[in-house]
Amino acid sequence: MTKILKATTENILLAAEILRAGGLVAFPTETVYGLGANALDEEAVKKIFAAKERPAADPLIVHLAGLEHIEQAAKSAPPLARRLAERFWPGPLTLILPKQPQIPRLVTSGLDTVAVRAPAHPVALSLLRAAGTPIAAPSANRFGHTSPTAARHVWDDLKDRIEIILDGGATPLGVESTVLDISAVPPRILRPGGVTREMLEDEIGKVAVIESSRQVEAGLPSPGLLEKHYAPRAQMIFFKGEEARRAMLARAREALAAGQTVGVLAMDEDAEIFEETGAVVYRLGGGLDSVASRIYDGMRRLDADSVALILCRDAGESGLGLAIRDRLTRAASAVVET
Ligand code: AMP
Ligand code: MG
Repeated sequence: MTKILKATTENILLAAEILRAGGLVAFPTETVYGLGANALDEEAVKKIFAAKERPAADPLIVHLAGLEHIEQAAKSAPPLARRLAERFWPGPLTLILPKQPQIPRLVTSGLDTVAVRAPAHPVALSLLRAAGTPIAAPSANRFGHTSPTAARHVWDDLKDRIEIILDGGATPLGVESTVLDISAVPPRILRPGGVTREMLEDEIGKVAVIESSRQVEAGLPSPGLLEKHYAPRAQMIFFKGEEARRAMLARAREALAAGQTVGVLAMDEDAEIFEETGAVVYRLGGGLDSVASRIYDGMRRLDADSVALILCRDAGESGLGLAIRDRLTRAASAVVET
């Protein structure tokens, strides 16, 4: 039976014991909840793939307590990687580096590179220090489903598949880390996330961003970045472009008139007009920080309300907008360009 335990010092030590003994532990990071195993223990890592039903071709991120531990996972770290780590670690930036031989191939899905980061969450850092090993940890949800931003979300997806969930409250950022390939010139973002393109460019100059659709066609520079991911159970439609709000409103009225239950992930500025339609409205808040921290909870809540259809719209591409757009695009069953 899976236990949800408050992330006290004592329980973090217990979780570290479980990790050292080859077990699985879910824990909070600043992005989303992770499902961790000792990254040096292949049998333990196998359990992650089994619990999540994650395909073996989707490599894991290895979490470290800090840059000083980089050699636990990476064979080498070029000056650019060190500079970025010094600036953004601990934090939501994952770097792709040459793999250290002691990391099992299962972790990297057979690639010669490994994804590494140091998480900026006191519970995650304490757990890493107590375990004394790098921790391989994807998001603690069933594969393809919405990422977990609360202990309860992990429970809903993985109960009875893992030993413990350390409950550290809601995760502050709410979207995953930025995955950056620094072997390319200019460096390229394989997955937009918590460290924004602007923040990276401010530090190292020009950075490219891979378009999700092109990426899949172009042959998997980052194998796990599937088109369909993060998805709620309900059908979800994502609206983009100048007329996004108007098209979304029309769609809501149409679906409601046809007798469907409709859920809306609404930014504060949209909330009232959608509430007037009779849709179930989940408020994402005003700024991008708030939207990022609430989108996954919103999808899960609307699913729990059993809506048939979820509508949401683009929040632009500056700052966290790019990561929000990426997740909503992948989570949606359809994208409407207006
Ligand atoms: P998750 O831990 O579920 O947030 O996902 C980790 C993602 O990081 C994977 O799905 C890949 O897209 C990416 N990733 C992990 N390792 C590598 C790697 N060696 N090269 C490129 N991308 C990677
Ligand atoms: Mg994930």
